[in-house]
Order: sequence, then structure tokens, then C-alpha cells
Amino acid sequence: MLDLLRELVLLESPSLEKAPADRCCGFLADQWMLRGGIIHILKQGRRGNHLRVVWPPTANRPKGQLLVLGHYDTVYPTGSLPKMPFRISGGKAFGPGTFDMKAGIVQALFAFEALQALKIPVTRNIIFLWTSDEEIGSESSRAIIEAEAKRSEAVFVLEPSLGPRGLLKTSRKGVGQAEIVVRGRASHAGLNPEQGVNAIHELAAQIARIERWNNLRRGVTINADIVEGGSRTNVIADYAKTTIDLRAWRASDMRGLESRLHSLKPIHRRAKLEITGGFDRPPLERKYSAELFTRAQALAKQLGLRIGEAAAGGGSDGNFTGALGVPTLDGLGAVGDGAHSGKEHIFVKAMPQRAALLAALLATI
Ligand SMILES: [Zn+2]
Repeated sequence: MLDLLRELVLLESPSLEKAPADRCCGFLADQWMLRGGIIHILKQGRRGNHLRVVWPPTANRPKGQLLVLGHYDTVYPTGSLPKMPFRISGGKAFGPGTFDMKAGIVQALFAFEALQALKIPVTRNIIFLWTSDEEIGSESSRAIIEAEAKRSEAVFVLEPSLGPRGLLKTSRKGVGQAEIVVRGRASHAGLNPEQGVNAIHELAAQIARIERWNNLRRGVTINADIVEGGSRTNVIADYAKTTIDLRAWRASDMRGLESRLHSLKPIHRRAKLEITGGFDRPPLERKYSAELFTRAQALAKQLGLRIGEAAAGGGSDGNFTGALGVPTLDGLGAVGDGAHSGKEHIFVKAMPQRAALLAALLATI
């Protein structure tokens, strides 16, 4: 498993660089083909290609399908390896994308190998879908993921687990981004302030208004993360803009937040507001994970493992499949820490354990 993880990490695969991403995708395709998977490379124009692997039941006609989902892209640009080389130390494997989520892909491959080696009779088509743009919002893969999920009885997402105990993710917040642009009117701050409409003042008042919509208890958050505006001193600002982060646990709160945001009205009557954006990923609500989690927990017990669950404030492609009402269990990938940082690593010991758990889930659902 470690040899394969090393090869996969050395094939750097940033979301924004198509040529290296395609090489990584090609390598993965070869690995699945070697083990008897049927390969479809879904070619993309701008982004890395997506990889779809089908493993049909050997004995009989498939009764539906199961989807194993993940992404091979990372947030690290090519050339990151000298700064954070692949290395194994103290039971951990370090390197760009180890935790998020190349070890998860390796685990899925070995689960697949184990099912074959043990001649476990599968009754459903098993689809492995490895995409190239999760880290930048899944624009080119979303439709493919959703179409595959709609045909599936269950979706297993190989994103990293949470914390040192490797908690599975049974709910995830919906995540969105919006912008408020204020158009005011410039004038000389000393000579004719009465003619100006200060876009920064208007934006500040709007931000104070939306700040009150935060409800930490319900998990609804709205945060102005970036502000810009104005041109120079002496000039009343005719322009200001903020970029806002939106999050919610519940689909109903997501819709509520979006509609409030889009019905904001100017406070200064001569200011103009332009509001764009909203939720990119709907929440993954626990009701779509609970049953699969209970099953995973029972299987883990048989394997001598203890697993727990957690709620995650960030989104993944599991949010798309859960929002379609398809049972989805997320965080089935690696155990480790430091995603998106120079210290990214996984716990080596957990790799075969989690691979076994996935194999058990695929064999018994
Ligand atoms: Zn990820």
C-alpha cells in the first residue's frame, strides 16, 4: 500500500494543472485495469480527466450499483515535493495529498483487490469514480457525480476521516460563497461631501446587518471574509465589495439564508446593491448517512475496530450525493492530519484497517 501511495504522491496532481493531473489519472487507470476493472477515462477540456471504473459481478446480472467516490486532485502546485517530500517516519506517511485523499484511493484499490482475491460474490456493479476538481468546487465533475449517484443504492466517499480516531463524517455543512457590491457616488470629501454616496459606509451597514443572521447554535454562519473598496483619501468611495462565506447544517436554513441575502435593500437610498452567489454545495444531512454508519460500525466491530462519527463544517462531493437523497457515508478514507498544509500525513497502520472496512461494506450491502 505504501509503495503505491508513494508513486501516487510523486505524481503531483494539482486541480489547476491539466497535464500532470492527466498523468496521475492515467496511472490510476492502469492500476485498476491491471486488477480487472473496466476503465472509462472521461476526457475534460480544461481540467484533469475523470476516471470511472466499473467492476461488474462475475456470476449474474447486476442488481443496481454502489458508488465509491473520491478525487485525485490536490491543492499543491507542481514543484511542492522538494519542500514536502514523501517520507515515512514514526508510523506516519507525509507528503502532498497523502491525507486528502490519495491514501483513500489506495485503500479503495486494495479493498477491490481483496474482494477479488477472496472471491467474494458481489451482486451489484461497483463503480469507482475518481475526479480531478473537488478542491476547486467540482465544476466539471458535479453532473457526472450526480448522474452516477442517482443510479446507486449507496455512495461511499473516501475523503479523509476526522481526528486521530478517524471518525466517519455523517453530516457536513452546506457551503457557499456570495458577493455584495455597493455602487455609490464619488465626490470631494472636503468641497462637496453632500453630493457623495459613500459605498464603504453602505457596505459596512450591510455587513453589520448580515452579521446578526449568524446562529451558532443552529450552525448557520455568514462571514464577510474579504472587503475592498474606495480609491484614495479625499474621495468619497463610489465602490465597495465584500466576499462572504455561507454555511448551514440544514437545507431549509440554506434556502432561508440565500433568500434573505438576495432580498437585501440599500440603507442609503441612493446606493445600489448587486448581490450574487449562494450555496455551491448543499448540506449532507445526517438522515442520509445514519443507516450506513450503523452498518459500518457493526462491520468495524467484527474487524476488531472501533469507529465513531462526526459532523464536518466543510463540504465535499458527498454533499451532492446526499442532497439527492442517496445514502452517503463520507470520511471513509485515510486517518491522519494536516490536510492542505505542509505537515499533511496519514497513519500507516490505519490503511489496511480502513481498506478492510470498505471491502466489508461493499461486500455486504
Ligand atoms: Zn478532499
